Amino acid sequence: MHSAETALLVEQPENPVDRILQSIEAVLQTRKLFIGLDRDGTLVPYADRPEEARVDADLYALLSNLSKLPAVRVGIISARSIAQLRGDFDSKKLFLAGNYGLEICSPKGEFLIQPMALDAVPSLKEMRDRLAPLTSPRINAVLEDHGYSLCLHWHTVVVEERDLVHQKVTELKEHFPLIETLAMATSYEFKPRMLWSKGSALRQIYMQEQADLANAFPIYAGDSEADEPAFDWVNDHGGISIKVGAGVFKTCSKYQLADTSELRKLLTRILSIRQHKDDKA
Ligand SMILES: [Mg+2]
Repeated sequence: MHSAETALLVEQPENPVDRILQSIEAVLQTRKLFIGLDRDGTLVPYADRPEEARVDADLYALLSNLSKLPAVRVGIISARSIAQLRGDFDSKKLFLAGNYGLEICSPKGEFLIQPMALDAVPSLKEMRDRLAPLTSPRINAVLEDHGYSLCLHWHTVVVEERDLVHQKVTELKEHFPLIETLAMATSYEFKPRMLWSKGSALRQIYMQEQADLANAFPIYAGDSEADEPAFDWVNDHGGISIKVGAGVFKTCSKYQLADTSELRKLLTRILSIRQHKDDKA
């Protein structure tokens, strides 16, 4: 093997967590950080039913401690509602962006809802009521109402009844032009039809907090196609994007981690590097 190739192999750590840390070594010593994180499938493994996918005490403390550092800001950008996220995370320290960021709450308690999300509420409520029969014990779909979006999970539906679920969704799509339907791996997401994504949520947080975040280095981790616009935004702003888990889709993320526990290791290492740096300062 050519010696230059050998040198290249030696310089690249095997472990993906080490690889990411190596790529931001200088950043971790000098820059303010904004760490944006998706919740389900990224910080917390998926469970059969959404209410079983819980944030444990260690994760709560890890994110809280990261956000207590003087030059680190942390935001959760999730499909879940802020009402739910408040029960999971330290809302006095973290930015919470619910419904893909259609609603955003800052650690200071400033609350922003996109006006078009408010306009879509009557349609979403009607849609929810028409989807509700699919949650009967015979069909067993799981329907989540996040206020400004809905999620219908069908992995819990017996195979013979699944066509019925897909048919119902197709029928409703035509009736509700204000609502966009996204087909995910085992669920449907329904949200207001508007140019909005998790990338818009990051842009909004940076805009809202201009003075504080102007030079903050962005890091974003997510696990699904809904996170791609956030990866894209972070890449455009010179930061790093991290896809978590084995989801199969075309991704623009710069780094990949196998699962939620690898992401937790990365965040723990960032915490300890920054604590050590602050202690020395
Ligand atoms: Mg997710």
